Amino acid sequence: MKKILMYIVFVIVLMITMPIVFTDNFSKTEQTSTQETTPTYEKADYGDLNTIRLLHQDTGQVEELDFDPYLYGVVSSEMPASYELEALRAQAVVARTYTIYKIVNGSKHENADICDSSLCCQAWISKENRLARWEENVREEYWNKIVDCVDSTSGRYVTYQGQPINAFFHSNSGGLTELPVNVWGGSYPYLQVVQTSGEEGYNGYSSEVEVSKDELIQKMLAKYPNFEIHFDEVNCIQILDLTESCRVKTMKIGNVSLSGVEARNIFGLKSAKFEFEIVENVVKFRVMGYGHGVGLSQNGSDVLAKQGMTYEQIIQHYYKDVEIK
Ligand SMILES: [Zn+2]
Repeated sequence: MKKILMYIVFVIVLMITMPIVFTDNFSKTEQTSTQETTPTYEKADYGDLNTIRLLHQDTGQVEELDFDPYLYGVVSSEMPASYELEALRAQAVVARTYTIYKIVNGSKHENADICDSSLCCQAWISKENRLARWEENVREEYWNKIVDCVDSTSGRYVTYQGQPINAFFHSNSGGLTELPVNVWGGSYPYLQVVQTSGEEGYNGYSSEVEVSKDELIQKMLAKYPNFEIHFDEVNCIQILDLTESCRVKTMKIGNVSLSGVEARNIFGLKSAKFEFEIVENVVKFRVMGYGHGVGLSQNGSDVLAKQGMTYEQIIQHYYKDVEIK
């Protein structure tokens, strides 16, 4: 009898406490997930820049977008949404800065502020196309991350001595970023050679391009009609000197001297940081890094975010003596 009574008491206690435990857990989970998916941030007023006139290169149409929603399309096109949130925030602030710099210093386009081509201005993708390219099970999470990284940094941009910086960025620095003087000419005090370790874990870090001797001759002749090479000569291809970041500064191919950047373009290499080897009938290029290498490295930003850096710290790692307004 006593045992039965104790059992009844135990069951009653269990019936009262279990729902409390579960309900408590459930409401906490619900609260956290609501906070994560729908945060609200104060929207910045960009004054004259509130509306961005975006030129679509494929159609020639100009679309007008609010500044931050324009950046959703830039960040989601420029950086994988699977990256760390702080890396995405750094990308959002840098893309915003790049946009402001382009507009303030004169757009390349007559009736638009900026275009959607990464070869000309910076990449942009519509929400519809972006969502369609993500797997269905990550669509909502990824889009919320993109919106969050832009909205949580709304209005913030990078300045040097009070002025917006020319915020270049690229995919993978191959370990060291490059000075703009070695890519396009010109120099900016905030763009220096910066080291980041850990980028070797990303696809863009190392690649190879093989060019047959015949192909090499054809490609060189297309650019230099007087090109000549004698593959039986030692040093028929030679790297002459390297830049501060160990990219090829100048090289000689046959009777032509050219920069590493030019060789990169002629042979379609991912970066100007390369070595080569002639094996029988083929010239093999082993390439490190992806992109021009100037400014913020996107892969490097993800590495630094994984190490616990905030987006402000990531930006200050890649651009020297800057402030984030
Ligand atoms: Zn453009």
